[in-house]
Amino acid sequence: MKVLVLNSGSSSIKYQFIETTTRQVLARGQVERIGMDDAVLSHVRIDGDTVKFSAEILDHNIAIEYVVAILLSKNHGVIKDKSEIEAVGHRVVHGGEEFSGSVLVTDEVIEKIKENIELAPLHNPHNLRGIIACKRLLPDTPQVAVFDTAFHQKMPEHAFIYGLPYELYKKYKIRRYGFHGTSHRYVSKRASEILGVPIEKLRIITAHLGNGCSMAAVMYGVSVDTTMGFTPLEGLLMGTRSGDIDPAIVLYIMGKEGLSMAEVNALLNKHSGLLGISGVSSDMREIIEEMRNGNPRARLAFDVFCYRIKKYIGAYSAVMGGVDAIVFTAGIGENSPDVRKKICEGLEFLGIKIDDEKNNSPEREKIITTDDSLVKVLVIPTNEELVIALDTAEIVSKVLANTK
Ligand code: ADP
Repeated sequence: MKVLVLNSGSSSIKYQFIETTTRQVLARGQVERIGMDDAVLSHVRIDGDTVKFSAEILDHNIAIEYVVAILLSKNHGVIKDKSEIEAVGHRVVHGGEEFSGSVLVTDEVIEKIKENIELAPLHNPHNLRGIIACKRLLPDTPQVAVFDTAFHQKMPEHAFIYGLPYELYKKYKIRRYGFHGTSHRYVSKRASEILGVPIEKLRIITAHLGNGCSMAAVMYGVSVDTTMGFTPLEGLLMGTRSGDIDPAIVLYIMGKEGLSMAEVNALLNKHSGLLGISGVSSDMREIIEEMRNGNPRARLAFDVFCYRIKKYIGAYSAVMGGVDAIVFTAGIGENSPDVRKKICEGLEFLGIKIDDEKNNSPEREKIITTDDSLVKVLVIPTNEELVIALDTAEIVSKVLANTK
């Protein structure tokens, strides 16, 4: 099935057009600066043909019109008729407690995504805009929503309840949700394929380390705990987010510096993390370069980043009663042997023996532990778009079979 996968953000839409049977990406691209008169669309076709142009793209409707137009384009396109877009799969950040899997988009689903806007005000409205634009532009094409939170919905209550008055959970749904679920699901499944062991028999710790970072304890195929919580701010240190802190610090800084809610929100989400500690950059490549140049705060940011991941490896090994595999993925996890080595240093007691040669080798997907290491450590490039496309094809095929 040919599926258009859309990731609609506030001012950008990323897309991939995927043939799910062959898993080929027929075309991919993005529209950036939506809302501006100099928005930019860049598009790459499977044969390498590339096109980039600027246009006035004032909203998501127009952006998706451009995406469909470029897929249909004589010179740069990959289809001849709109109907060749057999389904559309959307990334939706927050599915709340309603969605523990991907679903066909119906009016009821749209309503529920709307209800969850309060939980993800920075993401869900834009995801929804993409869905509504497609409904208008491709009214006969089935659409599927794939939620970042869904994979973590099977977490047990003791892992998702905060130590707050229980009424706050009932009243405002304040609980831990977790994010990056599509990535944790993909890499844990892929690890079981690479290791040749059914996922039902594996205790896997997955570490998605990109600009946003999170880990999950995936026990026998189920996410039983994850580091992000009510929002993506909890857990690991990230590019610009603080991760875990004592919540009393928020009140203390607000008092000391006279910060408003918006200012403290920006402090925790945009000025903390690697950037905040190093004062240099939120980008791990620059942190590592500065660290090599002898910058002590870049070294500190690197150390805090790795230390917290190591701490959660210990925690999740305890949660699962052991660990069989650890997976590193996303920008930092896939590309930084230094980070992987630092995290795994001192974990020999758990049965982890890193093979430096494998850790430094250029392969993208690999096992980086020695053959006799009891716990296998893997590097697996994440592929959230593929998961969205495959979920979409599966759900749409079932619906079509039932309506025949
Ligand atoms: P996003 O969460 O926005 O999708 P990515 O998964 O692309 O982000 O990850 C971005 C992070 O990956 C940045 O911190 C970047 O520095 C880091 N990164 C990319 N390549 C390397 C590398 N070779 N070494 C270290 N870090 C890298």
